[in-house]
Amino acid sequence: MNYISTRGSIAGVSAAHAIRTGIAADGGLFTPETMVKLSSSELESLKNKSYQELAVDILSRYLSDYPKADLVTMVESAYRYPDKFADPRVTPVTELRKGEYILELWHGPTCAFKDVALQLLPYLMTKASELTQDRSGIVILVATSGDTGKAALEGFRDVPGTSIVVFFPDQGVSEIQRMQMVTQEGRNTFVAAVKGNFDDAQNGVKEIFGDAKIIEKLAGHKLAFSSANSINWGRLAPQIVYYFFGYLELCRQGVIALGDPMNITVPTGNFGNILAAYFAMRMGLPVRKLICASNANNVLTDFINSGVYDRNRQFYTTISPSMDILISSNLERLLYYLTGSDPKRVNEWMQSLKNTGRYQVDTQTRAEIQRTFIGGFTAETETKATIKKVFEERKLALDTHTAVGVSVYERYRQETGDNLPVLIASTASPFKFNSSVLEAILGESAVAGINEFALLDKLSGLSGMEIPAGLKNLDKKAIRHKTVCGKAEMGQVVQELLKLK
Ligand SMILES: *Cc1c(COP(=O)(O)O)cnc(C)c1O
Repeated sequence: MNYISTRGSIAGVSAAHAIRTGIAADGGLFTPETMVKLSSSELESLKNKSYQELAVDILSRYLSDYPKADLVTMVESAYRYPDKFADPRVTPVTELRKGEYILELWHGPTCAFKDVALQLLPYLMTKASELTQDRSGIVILVATSGDTGKAALEGFRDVPGTSIVVFFPDQGVSEIQRMQMVTQEGRNTFVAAVKGNFDDAQNGVKEIFGDAKIIEKLAGHKLAFSSANSINWGRLAPQIVYYFFGYLELCRQGVIALGDPMNITVPTGNFGNILAAYFAMRMGLPVRKLICASNANNVLTDFINSGVYDRNRQFYTTISPSMDILISSNLERLLYYLTGSDPKRVNEWMQSLKNTGRYQVDTQTRAEIQRTFIGGFTAETETKATIKKVFEERKLALDTHTAVGVSVYERYRQETGDNLPVLIASTASPFKFNSSVLEAILGESAVAGINEFALLDKLSGLSGMEIPAGLKNLDKKAIRHKTVCGKAEMGQVVQELLKLK
């Protein structure tokens, strides 16, 4: 399998090269040149595989330059039970109500779906150095709204030949998310708070990636940057696996027969997770509709419905912060395929986005999008009402992102009468956003003035769920990262933290 940049000027590169470099030099995203296709008998052959076996099967089709024996070792190390994932099935499926199933993606060490990819990425990345004969050390640079940063730190900590620098917005993450990051252990981990919001941190990181002076200095120390954000193909490929796993679980549970269609709903921010579902569908997984759920930052809902992407709008800070995003980078990969692999059009749209904050796709592309995607969003009050309702009916505590997915899906089902079984991606543990979850269930007075660590016990008592190991005693851990910087100082901070002379 070869990879091509969505902007078209780089093609024919290996998976290892795509993963090692993270982003293409022409500003585009590396993406597979052709779609992998599974026949119905191949799908059938996956039916009784464990999560790990399934992962090797699917990944080996995309990472064809990685020796299969290595993939087996990497997958087994990344998804080991119980020290890496707290459930032996890795991403178990539970019933919400008849016809609605929750794909639990948060049993990894940092309690968000990003662990599924970020536990594996460090192995893929270090192997890539070997396969591409690139001997320079890797510096992973991350801007995070909370979940990616911690998952990447945990994945890369003490991985030989790598270091990782994470920037998070000083005021933009929850107390639990902040403590998860500033207490991070590992000889090669660095964390800094940026005085600003997520966009400031993200723009700062983008500038550093393009800063010729810093890149040259790194090269002098035999180091090179790479990315652990979902612009890196190595983040997306592992996510395809769990949509297959979820489908096959529904078959094993007797909900559907092999070959029958289902729908998928994904609470969406950067469009990475739902794009992995799109890949699964194009590979031959029987999926009819992909329901893209947003919060008040509903730029994707408008895009799917109108064909106009317009980021010139108010930015809202919500109780589902990992979806508070106005530029969904991975949409670029979708557009590449929907135009029949036409980098010229993709380029025009992305230039327009850069220059004016807006682009409009042609009617044919819009029709292609609408053939598969449904866009919907919920207001904060609906998200909270959904958490309360699901808890009262099912004693199930949903996190604030998953609740956006459930809420958007249920409205879709009511409005259309589409009763196909649905997998709803559950992207975080409710413990990670416990203050908002408990407020939704018990009311504001029940959480007012109580810190998030005290609320862990309260949520555990109420839901009967165990507090995840990674969050327990987090407030008692030593703070190891104290750097706070202005957004103009980020480049300097990287050089200081890495001790570049
Ligand atoms: C990152 C994240 C999302 C958004 O996923 P994308 O792949 O960026 O669309 C949704 N929910 C949670 C909890 C997340 O951490």
